Parts: sequence; C-alpha cells; structure tokens
Amino acid sequence: MKILVIGKGLAATGLVWELVTSEHRPKSSELIWVGPRLDKRDAQNCALRSTALVARQGISSGISPLGDLLVHSYELAKIFFENHTTGTKKVVREHYASSEEKREQLQRRFDCLDYPVKEEAYIIEPLTFLSQWHEEIKTKGPHIEMHDDLLGEAKEGIVQGLKGEYDYDILFDCRGSSLKDYNLIKDNFKKSPGHYLIWNHPDFDHSLKSESWVLTIDGHNLIYHHDRDELILGGSTQKDEMISPAFDQLNDQLLAFKKLRPQFSNLYLNEATIMTGIRSKAKKREPYIKEVTPGHFLVGGFYKNGYTLCFGVAKELIKQAFLNEA
Ligand SMILES: Cc1cc2nc3c(=O)[nH]c(=O)nc-3n(C[C@H](O)[C@H](O)[C@H](O)COP(=O)(O)OP(=O)(O)OC[C@H]3O[C@@H](n4cnc5c(N)ncnc54)[C@H](O)[C@@H]3O)c2cc1C
Repeated sequence: MKILVIGKGLAATGLVWELVTSEHRPKSSELIWVGPRLDKRDAQNCALRSTALVARQGISSGISPLGDLLVHSYELAKIFFENHTTGTKKVVREHYASSEEKREQLQRRFDCLDYPVKEEAYIIEPLTFLSQWHEEIKTKGPHIEMHDDLLGEAKEGIVQGLKGEYDYDILFDCRGSSLKDYNLIKDNFKKSPGHYLIWNHPDFDHSLKSESWVLTIDGHNLIYHHDRDELILGGSTQKDEMISPAFDQLNDQLLAFKKLRPQFSNLYLNEATIMTGIRSKAKKREPYIKEVTPGHFLVGGFYKNGYTLCFGVAKELIKQAFLNEA
C-alpha cells in the first residue's frame, strides 16, 4: 500500500511520526512524504511562523469534544517534549488579568485562588524543533521516501508536483491554510492570519534575563527565550482573512505589558521584526478531518493549537484510516 503525505508542517509531521512509530500503522506500506523543505520564508508553512507556545490553558475534559481532544493532545505533547528537548523548553507561565472581572474569570477557569495564576508551559523554537523531528523520523525506517516539492490538486490517485508525479492508495493532505486554495473544501474553513513581533537582544533589565519565561495578560503572550535572548509578543488575530498587520492589537498588547512591568518601557514596536503566519480555522475551532473521496483525507484547521493538536489528531486519524488493516 502506498501512503502519500503532503505538507511538512505540524499536521503532516505529527502524522508521519505516528505512521512510523504507531502499532496501528499498516505493516506493509510504502510512505512518501512531500512538501517544500523547512524554510521560514515559506509563507505557506504556518508552523515556522508561530509563537509556538504549548500549555493546557486551564482546559478541563468532559465539557466539549474539542476540550477533550486538547487535554488528551496536551498530555501527548508533554510526554513528547519531555523526551525531545532540542528546540523545546519547559517554563512557568504567569497569567494576569487587566480587570477585576477578567481576574475572576481567569481564576475560575484555572480553579485557582492564587494570583497571578501560574501554569506549566513549553516554548518551542519552531525551525530547530521541526528540523530535529524530521531528522529523527528519517532514522525510523528504510521505507520513507522524502521529497522537496510543491504539489497541485489530487486527481484519480495521482498528484502532480513541480518536480514529479506522485501516486497513492491513501493520501493525507496536510497543506495547512493552503487547503482552501484547492477547491476541495466546501465546508466552513477559513484562513486566519496572525502577526507577532520579535525583538532580538531586547532592551530591558538583565535581572529579567536569567531564564526563559512567559507572561500572559488576558490571553496575550510575551515570551522570552533565554538561550537566544529573544522576546516575542503576540500574536494578533485578524478578521475576514485580512493579511495586513494588526499594529493596533499588537500595540495594545505591548502597552499592557509595559504597564505590568516598567522594565519593558524601552521596548518599541518599530524596533521589532514583524512575522506573519496563516492559520486555518474550521467550524467550532475544531480540527478539520475529512475523507473527501475514498482514501483521500484532508487534515487541517488546527487554528491556534497546532503544536498540541498534531499529537492527538495523528493518533485518531491513523486509527480511523487503518483500523481494519492492523
Ligand atoms: C501568529 C501565530 C501564532 C501562533 N501561535 C501558536 C502557538 O503559540 N501555539 C500553537 O500550538 N500554535 C500556534 N499557532 C498555530 C500553528 O502554527 C498552526 O496551527 C499550525 O502551524 C498548523 O499546522 P498545519 O500543519 O495544519 O499547517 P502548516 O504548519 O501551515 O503546514 C502546512 C504545510 O503544507 C505545505 N504546503 C502548502 N502548500 C503546499 C503544496 N501546494 N504542496 C506541498 N506542500 C504544501 C507547507 O509548506 C507546510 O509545510 C500560531 C499561528 C500564528 C499565525
């Protein structure tokens, strides 16, 4: 059986990882993995244009299907990050609120009387982390064929690429927000651009630079990567698939952090690099998994939780696709 996976982002990498490590994978199969090589300049790779924070965020199971999936995926992600420390770092995240009302909501959500609310989180350096993950996948078996290519639409078991043609028995199409460009999705599926700011060697008090940390105000993050002396603010959430930067949102977030910590008074928007990523968002913010024709699965809609959902979705999908094969 020939399995073709398209994309080199989180959905695809999580899936390929599961395909090479899971007991549920089909035992006699050929795996072909195609997508552009990892490069931050690839606007279609949202994984590399992400603030890349992973936390449980006070979500409980037993309330909604998405909540259950997020909790399960977070547990899987945590195990993975504990065992794969290249490009990942465990940190303490401190949550603050800008008003009394929001503070009450925050404490209720986390079921916590302390303030600020503290939670365990992981911060990721996307390129280092994904590159290392891809390298490890290559070591998992001789049956993986990897190609650096950009593909067109799948038609009757064949997908045409710029460099070649790929046939398949099963296709997992994980092109992120680009799925929307291929006329395959008729349901509610949106591109959801977002922006964030990066300061290299930011100008603030050295006493705050002794370790990595995350500060969050009303859900907006300020992330400090100690090893690279890099500060990340964001991201923004655009409406109506608009790509142009939401400077007003980012400026409001920056002002809130300056108010919280006077040490950030020397941080200016115009001294930061602005990054843009394009998320994909489906109905109810749930991941989009659909078998559009027999054996052709579309996988996306990870919205703001790609670094968590890639673990849980891959497990579910492989069970769904190969339940009768194993
Ligand atoms: C500003 C911002 C902040 C974010 N912060 C976080 C965060 O803190 N935590 C978190 O978990 N998530 C965060 N996300 C979301 C996360 O990045 C996404 O959910 C995730 O990247 C989606 O994974 P994906 O694999 O579906 O898509 P992508 O990561 O976009 O991967 C798509 C892949 O498909 C490839 N591709 C596209 N077109 C083609 C084609 N024609 N042929 C072949 N390959 C193709 C691309 O090159 C890429 O490899 C953030 C996103 C943004 C924009």
